[in-house]
Amino acid sequence: MQMLDHDSRPIILGDEPQGIRQELQHQAQTNFMRCLQCRSCSSGCPVFFAMDFGPNRIIRLLQLGQFEQAMQNSTIWICVGCDTCSSNCPMAIDIPAIMDILRQYALDTNSIILTPEILDLHNEIVSSIKRYGRTHKLEIMLRYKVKKKSWFEDMDVGIRMLSKRKLHLLPSKVKSLEEIQGIFREVRPVSWPKGEVS
Ligand code: SF4
Ligand code: SF4
Repeated sequence: MQMLDHDSRPIILGDEPQGIRQELQHQAQTNFMRCLQCRSCSSGCPVFFAMDFGPNRIIRLLQLGQFEQAMQNSTIWICVGCDTCSSNCPMAIDIPAIMDILRQYALDTNSIILTPEILDLHNEIVSSIKRYGRTHKLEIMLRYKVKKKSWFEDMDVGIRMLSKRKLHLLPSKVKSLEEIQGIFREVRPVSWPKGEVS
């Protein structure tokens, strides 16, 4: 069965893995079944132009149980979690939380990541916070560039940031680093219901 949503690209309906919709809502602590498809979220999203499709469509896919399509797109990785969409949402749906949990779900189920370079950047940022309790931007950028093997790309931006003292040469650690590292140790993997999407 095919349905057409706002941008006229078909949503392919298939079997719905049992219990995943409830678990996604539980983990995100928000009820996306209340979505009216008013599209206020997508209209206000500052990075909508770069996404495969807007956040309203992600919600629609989840409502229809199309979890694979909801995970395998650039949208969930391009979202910067700015919360503009949720502020605009008349149903108070926490869309950034949904994007977060979809990213986690994609990783846990070894789903195809359409924008692996964004995931690499995420990983470098998290590693930096684990090491120092805060981000050391210069190191993040250098490690990311090494991984991408794009040594000279954006070099002019880096030099400008250094000259304006927006980048620090050496990292500094927060005083309560042990507490921050304790948070990472406490994080437990989500136990997804059987019938995961792969
Ligand atoms: S703003 Fe809220 S209700 Fe409207 S489409 Fe987006 S998520 Fe749905
Ligand atoms: S939180 Fe994500 S989806 Fe929502 S407006 Fe910001 S970038 Fe767009």
